[in-house]
Amino acid sequence: MIQDIAERLDNSYRPDAESSAEDTLFVFRDMDVLACEYMSAPFPTAAEVKHDDKSLYLFSIGDRRFFLTLDREASAPEKFSYVNVRQLRRRHDAVRAELFAMFTAFHLYKWYSSNKFCGSCGAPTSPDSKERALRCGKCGAIMYPRIAPAVIVGVTNGDKLLVTRYAKGRGVGFDALVAGFTEIGETLEQTVEREVMEEVGLRVKNIRYYKSQPWGLSGTMLSGFYCDVDGDDTITLDETELSSAVWTERGDIVGQPDDLSLTNEMMKRFRDGKA
Ligand SMILES: [Zn+2]
Repeated sequence: MIQDIAERLDNSYRPDAESSAEDTLFVFRDMDVLACEYMSAPFPTAAEVKHDDKSLYLFSIGDRRFFLTLDREASAPEKFSYVNVRQLRRRHDAVRAELFAMFTAFHLYKWYSSNKFCGSCGAPTSPDSKERALRCGKCGAIMYPRIAPAVIVGVTNGDKLLVTRYAKGRGVGFDALVAGFTEIGETLEQTVEREVMEEVGLRVKNIRYYKSQPWGLSGTMLSGFYCDVDGDDTITLDETELSSAVWTERGDIVGQPDDLSLTNEMMKRFRDGKA
């Protein structure tokens, strides 16, 4: 999975850290990020980006530090252009740590850029001095990064796994598993039951937790579960969510072309008889 990199991401909060020339500086604009096609160094360094705001220190991986500018007019040399963050997933081979950093930076970018003003009183916010939070200068309200819990569900039926495809315009077009966000007042297990019922019309039992994955592109914390179909295995597809859902034999499971997602690990694990 994408977060399985040699050195863990260090989230220590250092609001006063100043960027050095060689640090990576992320520049996002809506769903795009400044990137170049040379995957050895896909994102610009602080020395390469011209911008008018103070860079925000994000996190480190090993001895590499990552910063963010929120200046929408920031510019970088011609070899960099705006690329959709999801498209970069297709260039995954060389630098998994870079990609994980970008996914996580994107999560923080969305949070910083959508909380410039206080939701309670409307006054401007600024980064807190002690912890990763934004604080309202007027009423003191404090906003933490928002992480949305969601589940990935491997529904099994003997030697078959329920493999889905998202409806057009949703997801990346790869094989996938039933998935969805947890609602207010719901346990993760209840999310599993509800999402499977909503997307494919099946009852499930023996819900068992497998693993979790931070997925910055959608601002989520994914929890993977396996479960067994309970009773009738006739699929009733929710066509607004999915284009297909098929009971797939272990040997017929293809998986995803990259090896970044918890979904893919769960499909491979079932294919290899480990689930
Ligand atoms: Zn306020």
